[in-house]
Amino acid sequence: MSTIFKKIIDGEIPCNKVYEDEKTLAFHDIDPQAPIHILVIPKVEVPNIYESNGEIVADCLNAIQKVTEKLGLNKSGFRIITNNGVDAGQEVEHLHFHILGGTKLGHIHHKDTTKDNI
Ligand code: 5GP
Repeated sequence: MSTIFKKIIDGEIPCNKVYEDEKTLAFHDIDPQAPIHILVIPKVEVPNIYESNGEIVADCLNAIQKVTEKLGLNKSGFRIITNNGVDAGQEVEHLHFHILGGTKLGHIHHKDTTKDNI
């Protein structure tokens, strides 16, 4: 099933594009969680890591390198996150890599949402 990212790839919905090549597209997240928050997506429609493959991931890795170099994040540092499935809170079922940067990012803390005392 097509997602909102397919509409962005097809130009039916606008995006703030940072990078594009034959296989991938990168654009600013609509709800940034850091001063710089970019989404890198493959143009092929795959919902997650498990239905992806090494070639698709390599294409995205290449785009991540291009984007982070373009924005200077290769020098300052950045974080890459891919949410897979329900427990990760994946909202859009089209494989994507979040690039977060532009500030000192906090440590990754696990919060157990099954417990109500934290
Ligand atoms: P997920 O939770 O699936 O890993 O992340 C989906 C991301 O897509 C979210 O960070 C959300 O803000 C972003 N997003 C959802 N719809 C749009 C949109 O129409 N345009 C852009 N630029 N980002 C979107």
